[in-house]
Amino acid sequence: MSESANKVIAESADVIVVGAGLVGSALACALTAASAIKVVVVDANQPQPPPEGGFDPRVVALSAAAVQFLRELEVWPGVVSQRHCPYRGMEVWDGEGNGRIRFSCDDLHRDQLGFIVENSVVLRALHQVLQPRVQLLAPVGVETWDQINDLNQLTLSDGRVLLAPLLIGADGGHSRLRELAHIPVSSWAYNHSAIVTTVRTAASHDFIARQRFSHQGPLAFLPLQDGPADPGRHCSIVWSLEEAVAERMMGLDDKTFCAELTQVSEACLGEVEWADQRHAIPLWQRHASEYGRAGFALVGDAAHTIHPLAGQGVNLGLYDAKALAAEILRAQRRRVPLSHDSVVQRYQRQRKFHNLSAMASMEGFKRLFGADSPSLLAVRNRGMNWVDGQLWLKRLLMQVAAGDV
Ligand SMILES: Cc1cc2nc3c(=O)[nH]c(=O)nc-3n(C[C@H](O)[C@H](O)[C@H](O)COP(=O)(O)OP(=O)(O)OC[C@H]3O[C@@H](n4cnc5c(N)ncnc54)[C@H](O)[C@@H]3O)c2cc1C
Repeated sequence: MSESANKVIAESADVIVVGAGLVGSALACALTAASAIKVVVVDANQPQPPPEGGFDPRVVALSAAAVQFLRELEVWPGVVSQRHCPYRGMEVWDGEGNGRIRFSCDDLHRDQLGFIVENSVVLRALHQVLQPRVQLLAPVGVETWDQINDLNQLTLSDGRVLLAPLLIGADGGHSRLRELAHIPVSSWAYNHSAIVTTVRTAASHDFIARQRFSHQGPLAFLPLQDGPADPGRHCSIVWSLEEAVAERMMGLDDKTFCAELTQVSEACLGEVEWADQRHAIPLWQRHASEYGRAGFALVGDAAHTIHPLAGQGVNLGLYDAKALAAEILRAQRRRVPLSHDSVVQRYQRQRKFHNLSAMASMEGFKRLFGADSPSLLAVRNRGMNWVDGQLWLKRLLMQVAAGDV
């Protein structure tokens, strides 16, 4: 073979996004919606379509603000045309006492509090909008990364070389780019795993998301939109348990697992009649000390991973994507080089405090409900019932969860 045939030609772009998950894809959509920015997206895996004839076991509860962002990106119609489930209320209760809080969209004069959607449904809708606009390279990994004079040079596992002034790590909780950038991360394992699966229950969920807390861990029933044959009887569950207990639950046969779920959920939806294949996901909390530096930024789970008990992980990631896209577009309008430190610093200033506050409140909840001291239990239950009687406070909490505040 001649020497020229072996020569690798570098491809140039304005922005390289590594990770075509929900956050990286939304960011690429936002960057290319109305600008001439050239974006290349790289992912180590081929995006998986939603399963045929069943539900994706991974779902997210999208806040009103996250849905509004997807509307602005013209992605939301693609979700609606597939499958989504509005939830009109939320009920949380203490499985070890009598504390209970009920939230209703009526109190906010809205039609719903948010939507439960399958990850692969949102991803497909994002990629339908993305595909004509950006080059998506998948499945391909990152081999090496160098920063040479204001340019990031990325060598991919297929030998391709990419050059861009701005590189974005949207490659999830185990971010390789965060590691290559030597950005320290504070992290701790909860020693809990979340069991996720789809279940069918005897009673209809009535478009209410339910979560029972106990010192063992929270169990959530998130409503799904099913067909006319079983209206409102499918939910996605997220059951966070100590690892040893989760392992035992994973090993049960379907009938015994359903019986356990019926009992632990206090049969809030009657008997759990059927459960799909279960998956156990180890739970971590992580936070990167910096969200990047000149020419490099982290978004979504690559910057912060949060306990799923309040269903805020992807919402926070989508707010990151929106904020970073706005900063990049601002820099482009003002002819500031995308490799300039100010782009990432301005993004970080907007997002770090918000993400840290959300993580701190989740940690507080987790510890409050993880404790089994009788005095704390009594205070916790009195506190929950007090909150339930304070409409102004419930409105505020709903507005925070919706991303309005
Ligand atoms: C059990 C559970 C329940 C949850 N429920 C909710 C909820 O109700 N609401 C909510 O808001 N959030 C929820 N979350 C959190 C939410 O799922 C995550 O915050 C969200 O998926 C993060 O998106 P991301 O795009 O940042 O990362 P990811 O979804 O992890 O995507 C990362 C992408 O990068 C790719 N990648 C990884 N490594 C490389 C590499 N080296 N090179 C190239 N590509 C790479 C991957 O293939 C993937 O496509 C939940 C999480 C868990 C575990």
